[in-house]
Amino acid sequence: MSDVINPATEQVIASVPAASVEETDEAIARAHAVWPAWRAVAPGDRANFLRRFSDIVRDHVEELAQLEVANAGHTIGNARWEANNVANVLAYYAGAPERLFGRQIPVAGGIDVTFQEPIGVVGIIVPWNFPMPIAGWGFAPALAAGCTVVLKPAEVTPLTAVRLGELALEAGIPEGVFTVITGKGSVVGQRFIDHPLVRKVVFTGSTEVGQGIMAGAAAHVKRVTLELGGKSANIVFADSDLEKAAATAPYGVFDNAGQDCCARSRILVERSAFDRFMELFETAVQGVRVEDPRLETSEMGPLITRAQYDTVAGFVPDDAPVAFRGSCPSGPGFWFPPTVLAPVSPTDRTFQEEIFGPVVVVTPFEDEADAIRLANDSDYGLSGSIWTRDVGRALRVARGVETGALSVNSHSSVRYWTPFGGFKKSGLGRELGPDALDAFTETKNVFISTED
Ligand code: NAD
Repeated sequence: MSDVINPATEQVIASVPAASVEETDEAIARAHAVWPAWRAVAPGDRANFLRRFSDIVRDHVEELAQLEVANAGHTIGNARWEANNVANVLAYYAGAPERLFGRQIPVAGGIDVTFQEPIGVVGIIVPWNFPMPIAGWGFAPALAAGCTVVLKPAEVTPLTAVRLGELALEAGIPEGVFTVITGKGSVVGQRFIDHPLVRKVVFTGSTEVGQGIMAGAAAHVKRVTLELGGKSANIVFADSDLEKAAATAPYGVFDNAGQDCCARSRILVERSAFDRFMELFETAVQGVRVEDPRLETSEMGPLITRAQYDTVAGFVPDDAPVAFRGSCPSGPGFWFPPTVLAPVSPTDRTFQEEIFGPVVVVTPFEDEADAIRLANDSDYGLSGSIWTRDVGRALRVARGVETGALSVNSHSSVRYWTPFGGFKKSGLGRELGPDALDAFTETKNVFISTED
């Protein structure tokens, strides 16, 4: 068993089993055994299973949200959004089974058709930063495609995943089709990579672990989707609505205490607007409400663990160029105040490395080309924002930045009906959006002769 701790209070709130290799193998064997029956469910019936699952999750949004507040320290507002996101993603992919089209391709002497065949058992490995949405982005399209799923939540945030597994059964999803297994990455997660009957692994987590997963998967030519780290740029041009850019910038990076792969943790500001931006940004940062995540007014909670706190604090030594900081509660809990480092050189490790906490660097740039160069001066390429009133410039910069999900004059990264994923070391493949089922199917080509 392993203890689950509330990061806002440091109290133990639950204890969950840590599955062994043998228990993991049993779950994989069950998922494989029920796969033929699940893939044979008529498209409309599979759609109905997912609709029922969505409805039941929707009925339990408040319970799931409260669980996440206690387990992950997410603000109650965010946690409700996250639980609703699972229901929405299930509802969206409930529309997919009847639309899993193949093609008919013109050929001589017959007809040629393609089928999208489900890939088999899918292993989903989830990190601790967004336990509910990241689980749902994997299991909803996988189930819709006719795959069966084994899912491992992060060691420190298993509670909502376990509950979602129970809700799937309540929705009538047959036993073994969707199984949540709690345990260690090095045991359960590793087994997903090594077990030949797991045909695909969806991994979201750190780039370092993702690289190991890709290497391990190579031995089986196993399919992988990887959603990894980020160090996204928020590019602010002098011609933008500077007040709005500054007022929203804290929420683009400090949401979820900066433990967000899409955090805009590098703010690049055109030099002529730098001082004005910093003035406005300081007021905005000081306005961020860092408090008990159960409060409706809370905008930021604690970091997830003591270890994460120590990692983040390591990026802010005594001689760090702290421009200003917000506030946070004292006492129990892994609280870290919103922290702004400026000006920071692109060679500094705080500019290059993912901090995964409420620490942002601000760096000036000279012109459009310099902004693109600086934004691309990163191993990562997940997300980003561009603030300008010039439409042509917005499009030029959007095309120039090597990243998977950009927003102009806003900080949105994720809509479940648009594709999401990273360039460079931020990952491989795409989740969400209309094409997500491609990641869970193989294309089969069949030629039928019409010759006598
Ligand atoms: P992590 O890599 O430490 O762990 C992620 C998951 O992998 C956990 O469930 C863990 O148990 C498991 N794991 C660990 N070692 C394993 C192994 N050898 N084999 C199989 N599984 C193993 O990451 P984390 O600290 O939980 O999450 C933070 C990271 O996730 C950050 O880098 C963040 O940017 C990234 N992330 C990326 C996205 C995205 O969509 N690109 C989204 C959220 C988080």
